[in-house]
Amino acid sequence: MFQLTGKVALVTGGSRGIGRACCEALAEHGATVVVNYVKGEAAAKEVADAITARGGKAEIAGFDVADTKAAEAAIDEIAKRHGRLDILVANAGISIDGLLLRLKEEDVDRLFQVNVKGSLACAKAATKVMMRARTGRIMFMSSVVAEMGNVGQTAYAASKAAVIGAAKSIAREFASRNITVNVITPGFIDTDMTSNMTDAMKEQLVKVVPLGRTGTAREIAAACVYLASDEAAYVTGQVLRVNGGMYV
Ligand code: NAD
Repeated sequence: MFQLTGKVALVTGGSRGIGRACCEALAEHGATVVVNYVKGEAAAKEVADAITARGGKAEIAGFDVADTKAAEAAIDEIAKRHGRLDILVANAGISIDGLLLRLKEEDVDRLFQVNVKGSLACAKAATKVMMRARTGRIMFMSSVVAEMGNVGQTAYAASKAAVIGAAKSIAREFASRNITVNVITPGFIDTDMTSNMTDAMKEQLVKVVPLGRTGTAREIAAACVYLASDEAAYVTGQVLRVNGGMYV
């Protein structure tokens, strides 16, 4: 089960955190993984090297998803070079937190540029390739806060909720081409994105997680492997919540 041998996967923001875990897990299941990065070339190379050291196949591709033209051109080039693109994990994302009354317009713009427009540009470029192959898997990395909201995360939550609406629409548009499109909504996962929280903040947060702990990037990657696999062929337009019961 969950064999991905012969498939080519692109993971945006793959050089660290959840993206890195997705790269490693997809490669473990046989996929050739393209590790996208925007600034962390050395970190992306380290991910690719770690995968190849374990006998997997990986390469790196630097582009900024927020530069939608560059992202589309890069994905086009990756697909041409490999002759295919089977899996896209639109994982790259940023968080900018702040209460509504202190929200800056430029922060809202930046969040939507990366989290929404960036993800959509990648999906657009990937579907062009997948349509011709009449098969494909797209996963968007949203967030638990898209569905439950969170104090101080109005703009971030809005950007992550936008991705869910987009994914459901793309799922409907491309179902006839056998392309499945799903969303993963991680709960509170221990990564660099959450590392600036104090221990007291983390303790408080974990109290509202029925499983009583933070999640790991590897637990998100497992959902990603499942949705990428042939076994998930009948799953599309869905939101897979990996959140320890934080939102049910
Ligand atoms: P992270 O900050 O460790 O990783 C995000 C990655 O995206 C980084 O590698 C970063 O370089 C990359 N990135 C950012 N902007 C980019 C751009 N313009 N172009 C290309 N790459 C870009 O965070 P993470 O925790 O691993 O988060 C991964 C995804 O999961 C994000 O979309 C995040 O919003 C989402 N998420 C995280 C959590 C959590 O608790 N960590 C919870 C819910 C959702």
